[in-house]
Amino acid sequence: MTDPAALRDKALEIHRLLCTVHGCPVAYFHSLDPLSELVSSLLSHRTRNAASGAAFKALRRRWPDWEAVRDAPVAEVEETIAGVTWPEQKAPRIQAVLRRITERVGTLSLDLLTGMPVPEARAWLEELPGVGPKTSAAVLSFSTLRQAALPVDSHHHRVAVRTGLIPASLAVGPSHAVLAAQLPADWDAQQLYDNHEVMMLHGQRCCYHHAPACDRCVLLRLCPTGQVLRPPEAERESA
Ligand code: SF4
Repeated sequence: MTDPAALRDKALEIHRLLCTVHGCPVAYFHSLDPLSELVSSLLSHRTRNAASGAAFKALRRRWPDWEAVRDAPVAEVEETIAGVTWPEQKAPRIQAVLRRITERVGTLSLDLLTGMPVPEARAWLEELPGVGPKTSAAVLSFSTLRQAALPVDSHHHRVAVRTGLIPASLAVGPSHAVLAAQLPADWDAQQLYDNHEVMMLHGQRCCYHHAPACDRCVLLRLCPTGQVLRPPEAERESA
């Protein structure tokens, strides 16, 4: 299916069905300021939530503020976040990002994003080293800014591919713009957050990477992958 109008209808129906399962509106999972959210997001890349959350708390415990993290010996930062994936890359990256923000703003703060139009704020963030669409959307959506931006993580992306919203060849980065364009342009921050959350939760709890549970999936009738993995009863009986 490549008809844009049909894809928009399908995206809305998937959203509606998943909201019936997971309950919308979904509560925001934390209330971090934008700078803290950015650090949290950089820690979370390819890392389980529990490990990145523990690393974030360890940074907060060890240093009084982000200026002190920025200026700390990199080996100490790496040691503090040792539980995440690739701490040897993330420690210098986080410090580089904190230094770059300080250079651009004149102080270590992301307060300038408050009230900035979302496209402009995302472009500003994506000029930082190692910050792509997922991180910029996470900072705007998950932080206390509560802006209308759609993050796409690997679970969300997998569900979108399997249900045919995007082709498998479209990587997570470029999928952000395509998936956001399938949703109503007037959706507010909560609705976009809900969409990300229910797609992610569906990937975590039903559409598993290995052996998706198509038998109990509310999206089965809409999902070309599920139709192949779990054909309708009549087809199974005649096979
Ligand atoms: S039907 Fe199967 S493959 Fe499709 S979304 Fe549901 S669990 Fe995933």
